[in-house]
Amino acid sequence: MGITEMKKLFKDYIQDVIPYEPGKPIEDVERELGLLHVTKLASNENPLGPSRKALRAMRLALRKVHFYPDGKCFELRKRLAHEFSLGEDQFVIGNGSNEIIELLARGFLNEGDKVISSDSSFLVYPLITKVCGATYVSVPMKDFRYDLRGILDQIDERTKLIFIANPNNPTGTYVRATEVEDFLSKVPKDMIVCFDEAYIDFVEASDFPYLLFHVKAGKPNIILLRTFSKSYGLAGLRIGYGMASRELIQYLEKARQPFNVNRLAQIGACAALDDRLFLWRTKHVISRGRQYLYRKFTKLGLSFVPSEANFVLVDVRRDSRLVTDALMKRGVIVRPMNAYGLDRYIRVTIGTRFELMRFIHALKKVLRKGEGK
Ligand SMILES: *Cc1c(COP(=O)(O)O)cnc(C)c1O
Repeated sequence: MGITEMKKLFKDYIQDVIPYEPGKPIEDVERELGLLHVTKLASNENPLGPSRKALRAMRLALRKVHFYPDGKCFELRKRLAHEFSLGEDQFVIGNGSNEIIELLARGFLNEGDKVISSDSSFLVYPLITKVCGATYVSVPMKDFRYDLRGILDQIDERTKLIFIANPNNPTGTYVRATEVEDFLSKVPKDMIVCFDEAYIDFVEASDFPYLLFHVKAGKPNIILLRTFSKSYGLAGLRIGYGMASRELIQYLEKARQPFNVNRLAQIGACAALDDRLFLWRTKHVISRGRQYLYRKFTKLGLSFVPSEANFVLVDVRRDSRLVTDALMKRGVIVRPMNAYGLDRYIRVTIGTRFELMRFIHALKKVLRKGEGK
């Protein structure tokens, strides 16, 4: 079969999809550049590693991996229901919260439907929308923040889904409780609003919206996404969940694979939820790390976007791809923001103090020598 025949086989709208480009793995950089100890601050992973409790539980569970996992995630569901005082049937558990995004698209989008989100937000939203043959509309940000009024203006009769990452990746900004309440009072009831709260554990702002209230109050068309990838340090296991009304969950359950969440992930997640000390230490490291970066950026005269997440967006005042390449040669991986339309910005994940010092040291050299100009 030739290229042209192959092209004809694929759905038209898949042709234009640009595959998601993840942060470069440490192993690749070490191999390609012949470096030994590379620091990765590119994918918002937990600098403390995984919780010890989770590790211990998974080690014990290893001997049972010849059994299929529990397709219903019974233990984790029970644990989460208790944690949030919701019904066990108000959770959908996924192979990462990214799978829930996919289930929403698969469950609700027909060809020609419309999905609305914001510019400079999570690239998985447009990716999955386009694969379903739906139209993705991204509303420009205002001061690096979601413009909820702008989103309201874009709603029409084809609109099925709205994605709001709060706090947002890659900007680290958030929409306030008052803004969200106003927005929710105006959104028509026949569409789904998905709040992606992957970074909620790092939020310190007091006016951050408490949306669980709406789920508890029975609002049918809201779903909140959470993940074990960031604050719980389990990104490599792939596990996350959505919380919503029973009706909404019921549809997502129909769209998922029977054994979508692997056995170790379920065990690890349950144990991680019990590791309060680990979560507390993580929040502490992130909070201190943010302040450290703010101080250093200010000293270097670089402007940055104040963040409620475990990363900071900083203006390096030159092509961010060249700066990230120069940093990589010095053993530090960060993320250029060109793909998000922010050509002069890089996104730095908060690491340990040692990792952040290494990053700042390398950044100073790169900027001083004019590498990446
Ligand atoms: C990291 C991240 C997630 C987490 O995805 P998982 O599939 O749970 O690892 C979700 N949403 C956003 C915006 C993120 O940045």
